[in-house]
Amino acid sequence: MHLTLLGTGLPFINPKRRGPAYLIRAGEESFMVDCGSGAMHRLYEAGARPSDINHMFITHLHMDHYIDLGHFIMMRWIHRSDEPLHLYGSQGLQRMVDLLLEMHGPDVELRQITRSLPRPAPNVIVHEISEGPILETPNGVKVSAFRVEHYPLDEPFGFRFDTKNKSIAFSGDTCPSENLIKHTHKVDVLVHESTEYTKWDAPDVDHSHKVKTHTHPEKLGFVAQDAEPGLLIATHLMPRSVPWELREMISEGYKGNLLIGEDLMTA
Ligand SMILES: [Zn+2]
Ligand SMILES: [Zn+2]
Repeated sequence: MHLTLLGTGLPFINPKRRGPAYLIRAGEESFMVDCGSGAMHRLYEAGARPSDINHMFITHLHMDHYIDLGHFIMMRWIHRSDEPLHLYGSQGLQRMVDLLLEMHGPDVELRQITRSLPRPAPNVIVHEISEGPILETPNGVKVSAFRVEHYPLDEPFGFRFDTKNKSIAFSGDTCPSENLIKHTHKVDVLVHESTEYTKWDAPDVDHSHKVKTHTHPEKLGFVAQDAEPGLLIATHLMPRSVPWELREMISEGYKGNLLIGEDLMTA
């Protein structure tokens, strides 16, 4: 099982760090976690295509994690994949997909007219999930969801992928979470958010809620110390975050293997 970081940024535009998105390849099967801005371009750069992916997992319904989902669904369809796309996420995902398909409906109809063979519209199957196992493929890839904490969302999730040889987990967006530590303990690779959330904020704005929404790199080290991953990858990085400074902050609490994520990095 191989991981490619498609996007290590967050909502702010940053050509060097696209929005959150991750590609997991396990033998013949490919999966994506999140579909942030620029995910399609990075997917191509990673040598994959939307039509390679039949299962996508959305950590939560903040736009930086799904903004290119419409692009993905349409490109997958244009690439002539009529396999169903299974989408997994929290309550509200079905409504969002319904709206996306409605928005792209006129273009789907126009493209159907100009095709020589009739084609069905994009086939998207939504799974609004709870914590626990959510997928086991015939090739032995198991995917489970666990709750994280991302105020004020009700149901943000992290995801964990397991094969018989390797495990990879994704925090999604979360403040330091005991439940994440429980579900990812000793995972081979932990991809965890590391948002420097106050450094560039105006001093007169109340940002006190941010301790309930994101994990500052200074705190990530202590999360990782308890989770004990084989490798920690920091992601969801601010445009002005400096990698060596992030490494120093995270290393205050964590002495294990650490990578500061870059787009298209693999593990
Ligand atoms: Zn985010
Ligand atoms: Zn978020």
